[in-house]
Parts: sequence; C-alpha cells; structure tokens
Amino acid sequence: MDNKTDLKNLTMEELTAFLQDMNQPSYRAKQMYSWMHQKLAGSLDDMTNLPKALREQLKDQADYTCLSMHERQISKIDGTQKFLWELHDGQMVESVWMPYHHGNSVCISSQVGCRMGCKFCASGIGGLVRNLSAAEMLDEIYRMSAVNNERVSNVVVMGTGEPLDNYDQILRFIHMLTDENGLNISQRNVTVSTCGLVDQIRELAKEKLQITLAISLHAAFDEKRKQIMPIAYKYSVDELVDAAAYYAEQTGRRVTFEYSLIEGNNDSDEDIAALTKLAKRAGAHVNLIPVNPVTETDFKAPKAAFLDVFKNKLEKNRINVTIRRSMGRDIDGACGQLRRKYLR
Ligand code: SAH
Repeated sequence: MDNKTDLKNLTMEELTAFLQDMNQPSYRAKQMYSWMHQKLAGSLDDMTNLPKALREQLKDQADYTCLSMHERQISKIDGTQKFLWELHDGQMVESVWMPYHHGNSVCISSQVGCRMGCKFCASGIGGLVRNLSAAEMLDEIYRMSAVNNERVSNVVVMGTGEPLDNYDQILRFIHMLTDENGLNISQRNVTVSTCGLVDQIRELAKEKLQITLAISLHAAFDEKRKQIMPIAYKYSVDELVDAAAYYAEQTGRRVTFEYSLIEGNNDSDEDIAALTKLAKRAGAHVNLIPVNPVTETDFKAPKAAFLDVFKNKLEKNRINVTIRRSMGRDIDGACGQLRRKYLR
C-alpha cells in the first residue's frame, strides 16, 4: 500500500474528521464505520447507501483492503479452523477459529514473523518481517466471522508475533475492537499474550484496560528461562513478576502466567516450588500448556498424565491452575506452523 489513508485503520473520531474534511454530512462517519466494522463489508462498493461519487472519491484518495484467504483447514475432531491470509503486500499471516459451547473464540497474529526468538516456537524462526496494522488484525477477525457467518465472542492475541512489540497498533486494535460502533466486544473477553516486555507491561497498566494479560513465563529461574527465551537476557524473572503485580494492582485484573511444560526442562519439584512463589507474588493464575512439537525444534511434551500431576501439585500450594485444551490436533497445530509450512 502507498501512504494513502487506510480507512479501516481509523478510529470513529478520526473517520469523522476525515469525512468532515471531505465535506460529508455528519451521519456519514457512523454509516461508514458500521459498514467496515459491523457489517464487515468486503469492498467500498458493498457500501450501497454511500453515494457513488463518494465511493469513487474514496477509492482515489484512500485505501480499503481486506485480507484474502489463501488456505482454510477445518479440524474433523473439534471444528477448529485455521486460516492462512495473504496481505496486500503478499505477506502471509495465520489465525485460528475455535467454536465453543459459549461462543466462538479466535486467536489472531499481531506481526508477520516475530523477533523474540523463543526456542520452542515456530513463529520466530524467520525473524520479524513487519508489524500488522490495527486494521489487519481486525480484519483477521472480520474475515473469519464473515466466512462462518457467525459472531465472535472471545479474542486472544496469541498467534504469530509479540503484541507489545507492536504497541501502538495493538492499543488502537483493542480500542476499535471494543468500540460500541464496531464489534463491541467486551474488554474482559480479550486476552493479550506477551513474552514479557516489562517496560510495555508497565505502560499498558496505566491504560487501565479490562483485558486479560497473559505472560509467557515458561520458566521460574533466570538461567532456565534464558535457555528457551532470549528476552530473559533483557529482563529478569524478578522484574517481570514485579511488572505483573503492578499490572494487576493498576487494573484490578488477575494476570495469567503461561507455562509450557517441556519434558526434563521445567517440570521438576524445584520448578513447582519456584513457580508457586512467583504466582503468589503476582496473584497470578497459571495456565499449563503441553509444549507443541514443532518440526524445526526438538522439545518434547511430558505425558498427558504428568500434566495432571503437575497441576495437582500446584493446586496443593493453592495456586489457581488450568490446562490449556489442545485443539485442532489434526490440522497444522499451533504457533506459526501453517505459515512455516507455506514458507518451506
Ligand atoms: N509473543 C506472545 C504471543 C504469541 S505466542 C507471547 O510470547 O506470549 C502464544 C503462546 O504460545 C505463548 O505462551 C508462547 O510461548 C506459546 N508457544 C509458542 N510456541 C509454542 C509451542 N511450540 N508449544 C507450546 N506453546 C508455545
């Protein structure tokens, strides 16, 4: 895209100002915002109650693009759907659609690639290509909702990318996603997952949003964390847990510590004792994830029964624990693997 205004990236206020500058009546912004963010219009020409002349003028002066679907896989086991999207510049990102009894959950990407380099993760293998705009993140949700002709109730930003490394667009995305003029999703139904960028966590805390912050801890000791997550060289576990506690205090929202169990790596009793202390300090909930084997790496998940043992031990220490249910095992699993396959 050139440097024309991307209409879908404008907040309601910005769109109002933009259309005012084009001498449009005041109701036009609401009309157009609704076409883009509620009716999920695929093109300007779908916006049938806009005057044709205005549509032509907008095509000339601004951009309105949608992601195009490159691949869609549907799990025969649980109905999970994985999407591979092509962006306007030919880059690819993936998203996941998870139907639950209580509504549809989606998992979206925040960047093309990632520069955090976690050793067990497929998304970081090729490094960071670029950030996604708020409009592109929204459109991952809009296209999935449109294809399925169903509403989305929960959004997790846990796909490819480090959302807090794309801070401004993530914040814009959250505001637009939860805007009453858009999908109007409750902030409480939005989760943002970070590998632990301490400065940005503290910054985000001041926004006092009601979203859930998930922090990928994965190890309770600095030395072990450094072995799997390069970000641990920049911030210590101590600093990270303090930032988590600060976030909880500022927002009144309990944070989640994500802990991917890797056999023989972070699953000892010593790990449980240390993790317990950290979770208590931050008042955090712990979400256990069996590490997902990635073609390019050699980390192994513990046996399913061991996950329950680990969970029970944490619960005995009075920690709030859940195990992340694995979905779509028969399609290209999690964490950047669909895009990897495409790149290979
Ligand atoms: N960058 C963010 C969000 C994307 S990753 C973050 O680090 O949190 C979403 C979650 O999946 C993180 O907890 C991440 O550590 C985890 N993850 C990545 N690859 C994985 C794998 N192969 N197995 C299990 N969890 C993985």
